[in-house]
Amino acid sequence: MARPRVYKTEAIVLKRTNMGEADSIITFYTPNLGKVRAIAKGVRRPKSKLGGHLDLLTQSSLLLAQGQNLDVITQCQTIESFLPLRSDLWRTSCAIYVVELVDQFTAEEVENYPIYRLLQTVLLRLCEAQSNELVLRYFELQLLSHLGYQPELYQCLNCKAPLALGRNLFSVSGGGVVCLNCAKKEQLVCPISVDAVKVMRFLLKNDISSASRLKVSLDLSRELEQIMRQYIRYLLEREVKSVEFLDRLRVELTS
Ligand SMILES: [Zn+2]
Repeated sequence: MARPRVYKTEAIVLKRTNMGEADSIITFYTPNLGKVRAIAKGVRRPKSKLGGHLDLLTQSSLLLAQGQNLDVITQCQTIESFLPLRSDLWRTSCAIYVVELVDQFTAEEVENYPIYRLLQTVLLRLCEAQSNELVLRYFELQLLSHLGYQPELYQCLNCKAPLALGRNLFSVSGGGVVCLNCAKKEQLVCPISVDAVKVMRFLLKNDISSASRLKVSLDLSRELEQIMRQYIRYLLEREVKSVEFLDRLRVELTS
């Protein structure tokens, strides 16, 4: 559907790229238009009225005008600046990972309202002191599910046998669990514990409040992270840039 010449939308800023002397290209996610890229003219000038309303990780209300190539942001007003995400390096890094993943997994102008809601909910949750890493796993699984990549966690991908207790494998290439017999038919598999399967099922079925209340051991947390990382890397066919930073930061914070 053609957009009007001037239109208004709510948006969460996913990325900023400098252009020319004072302009930026802003990539943002919207409730009804999906991901959009638009120009913010003069936004890097100290007195720009667009100023802080288009910072990374800000939710704003935008007024846009259709441009020849990219649309132009003419007015904006902050709705939510997620302040706690800016004062703590770990939270900042988690939030940057979240927006990077949304940016990498979505195409421009494909509406997906559940992803907008998920993004907003997860950023709010990351602002809270007690939020843990399972919030990131919740985010990854829910995002993949809204994109049609929800992993199969109940039966073998290949022979459809119900998942047995004990040793199982996760097929990174197939996107789900496989039994030991079928594992050899899959290109890329990694071991998965019964507890990891249970946590992943829980995160897919429950809301973010339940997800952030769940407590798991450090080993299980690492296992879940590694499985999700391999699956995401396989789907994207590349590394997520901010993951490396999260890893380094975790080492620094725990040493
Ligand atoms: Zn099987």
